[in-house]
Amino acid sequence: MNLYEWEGKNLFAKHGIKIPKGAQIKRDFNNDNIIKIYTDLSVEDFVLKVQVLSGKRGKNKGIILNSTKESIADDVKSLFDLQIRGQFVESVRIEEKLNIKKEHYLSITYDSKIKQPVLVYSTDGGIDVEDNNLEFIKIPLDIRFKNVVGIEKIEDENVRDVALRLWECFLTEDARVVEINPLVQTIDDKFIAADAKVALDDDAIFRHEEWKTYEPRTMLGRKPTKREMLASSIDEGQDYYRGTAGKYIEMEGDIAVLFSGGGASIANMDALASNGLKAANYTEYSGNPPREKVYELTKVVLSKPDLKGLWISGGVANFTSVKETFQGIVDALNEIKPTYPIVVRRAGPEEDEGMDLMRACAKDNNLNIALFGKDYSMSETVKKLADMINT
Ligand code: GDP
Ligand code: MN
Repeated sequence: MNLYEWEGKNLFAKHGIKIPKGAQIKRDFNNDNIIKIYTDLSVEDFVLKVQVLSGKRGKNKGIILNSTKESIADDVKSLFDLQIRGQFVESVRIEEKLNIKKEHYLSITYDSKIKQPVLVYSTDGGIDVEDNNLEFIKIPLDIRFKNVVGIEKIEDENVRDVALRLWECFLTEDARVVEINPLVQTIDDKFIAADAKVALDDDAIFRHEEWKTYEPRTMLGRKPTKREMLASSIDEGQDYYRGTAGKYIEMEGDIAVLFSGGGASIANMDALASNGLKAANYTEYSGNPPREKVYELTKVVLSKPDLKGLWISGGVANFTSVKETFQGIVDALNEIKPTYPIVVRRAGPEEDEGMDLMRACAKDNNLNIALFGKDYSMSETVKKLADMINT
């Protein structure tokens, strides 16, 4: 789960990292309570920052550095009217304005090459760290220890202190990413986290009762739909913790998709679009989920009104049972009995049994269905679906 800047900053503060004085302004603000928020903050100058689940707000007019008491209500309203890179504005943060001497970059995330977390630091932070060819100090971290071997590569002892606190935050909060960009060095040489990007590791939810207090959110940065909430609750199933079947994002189109496996699924979305079809959703199950989970997911996917087709697609599974997962899909198809075309492409363990189940289901319910195994590419099969819909 990705956190908003203000939520990330609260976590930083919990671990002793300095953050600017600030407060949240909600969408339902009015001229009176906004002045109260401003007055309570009791700061000289302030900045306004949209809260969205994406970076680059500075470049996209999502930050106002020259607001005043007189213009604050209009300024906040203008920020709520924005969409930053397609993202819904959750709230607006008002913060004391920092007097910046220098902007640094500091982050910790997993390095997939060395397969351990790595601390990344640069004395040149701020906007555009990705685009510029900056010099970074990289220090691999050992999750068994709170101390950091090699920390002295960071020259400034104040930055070292922030780095150690950030490492403690990463470990105890079960983060996947913690990034401070910029870590502001003020003109009086205080080091303050002026921004926060935090992603939590969803698999650690069992030891974080407090995560339940975070408002639900989607990758698109808007509030989740009813179907998205339903889908995400599938993986919380009490009786079975195995496999994933709760990844579901609702979209505008009318072709339902049920994918298995992550990487190929993204390519599938492109193949769908290049055949003139529009996805009703993005979803994917993986990790050999039991029949019940796939059943529930399929029910959610097919509950969207006005569908025109269904594409069930996946590569050659390594260990996910095609039989078990197809049984879940078949259970749902038996109930829903769709009349629109369905194309299936799948292979892997127990694929023959899985395809037999699908054939029997098609016969029982008189489905308009085409089945493909590994001899056909996934993108070929979506072409077939387009043909079936258009005839
Ligand atoms: P992002 O663009 O979404 O990463 O938003 P940031 O919070 O990182 O802000 C972008 C830039 O705005 C920073 O790199 C700073 O240059 C500037 N900025 C943010 N907060 C302040 C502030 O309090 N004072 C000043 N002078 N500049 C700020
Ligand atoms: Mn930033």
